[in-house]
Amino acid sequence: MRTIAILGATGSIGTQALDIVRRYPDRFRADCLTANTNAEKLFELVREFQPTAAALNVVPDYIPEDIRPVQWFFGPDATVRALAATQPDDALCAIVGIAGLDAVMRALDVCERVLLANKEALVTGGDLVTAKAAERSVPLLPVDSEHSAIFQCLQARHDNPVRRLLLTCSGGALRDWKKRDMYAATVRDVLAHPTWNMGGKITVDCATMVNKGLEVIEAHHLFAMPAEKIDVVIHPQSVVHSMVEFEDGAVLAQMGMPDMRGPIGYAMGYPRRLPYDAKPLDFAALGHLDFAAPDHDRFPCLGMAIEALKTGGSAPVILNGANEAAVGAFLRGQIPFGRIAEVIDATLQALPVRPIASIADVHAADEEARERAFMELGMRN
Ligand code: NAD
Ligand code: MG
Repeated sequence: MRTIAILGATGSIGTQALDIVRRYPDRFRADCLTANTNAEKLFELVREFQPTAAALNVVPDYIPEDIRPVQWFFGPDATVRALAATQPDDALCAIVGIAGLDAVMRALDVCERVLLANKEALVTGGDLVTAKAAERSVPLLPVDSEHSAIFQCLQARHDNPVRRLLLTCSGGALRDWKKRDMYAATVRDVLAHPTWNMGGKITVDCATMVNKGLEVIEAHHLFAMPAEKIDVVIHPQSVVHSMVEFEDGAVLAQMGMPDMRGPIGYAMGYPRRLPYDAKPLDFAALGHLDFAAPDHDRFPCLGMAIEALKTGGSAPVILNGANEAAVGAFLRGQIPFGRIAEVIDATLQALPVRPIASIADVHAADEEARERAFMELGMRN
């Protein structure tokens, strides 16, 4: 039996992780549940899972009588306080955005293992996160499907060097759109992801393909690979979740139907695979698997992210902060889709790249990037 904190319990990843807890009550106890603002949904989850502690980023108007005995934490640092109070064996970090970085760092202090979905924590604080994980010998188990695939392929590595990581990419909702139509794509167009059902922010990130750029940065940190050895390949069916190429030319792939409960369950159960009645892969029904090179002209954000990784320092933090600001504005209907890439580019051009030596440096660079991005958007932060 392992105790687990589900940080971001009300989200797409969080609720799917709780499905697994529900299925394996003898293996997992959800000991700490946290959420941003959705008090009602968190109350329901607390009622069902009876954790030791629960945290909400805001202060709710009331707490229902029956769940008052749970240890409650409210406010911006509620997540980290709840983690410290419960000290679970594992933490599933599934908060979206840089908002989850402090929780990842805290989880590395108090947990035996960190199950990482929150890619923005690695994009912005990657060197600090991996250094702390190494110093405390805490395994960082990837939950992002591509990184889980690579992690699974690397189980066959032994001491052999890796020549290349190949990240597959569905192409997002606008994969087949003409460039001239993309600028004015609506929130509705963009949220219609072809293969995965995810939170709003990451679905927009898939449509700009900045998500794949963030994942290149994530892979760089998780697997200590330079940007030059990480390639992206478009694969519309999302069946090959990613691949590893070795020096003899052998390529190992991890495959399965697109279902996040696969990678979430793999991280939760690691090193055991949890039996799960996922839809089996039917190769004959699929008939073919397609692959193509990414189109950098229609999807400039991918290249911007890879460049930011190569530049280093605060460049990935600037990219991420500008993206979070622009995606928020797009989801609120304040800017057209095409402005997202323009704002990221303009923010990267405008701001100096600074060295990052601490989490405080990361937050300072993030603040500066958001302010600048909102200025580009003609809005107040
Ligand atoms: P989501 O929007 O569905 O859920 C986000 C969760 O984080 C919610 O529980 C929300 O309450 C919480 N949260 C948001 N802002 C917060 C804040 N400021 N403080 C505390 N909690 C906050 O997002 P998601 O799709 O589940 O994605 C979560 C993370 O996992 C992201 O980093 C995403 O890139 C990554 N990821 C998601 C998927 C997927 O299938 N959804 C796949 C791969 C990676
Ligand atoms: Mg992914």
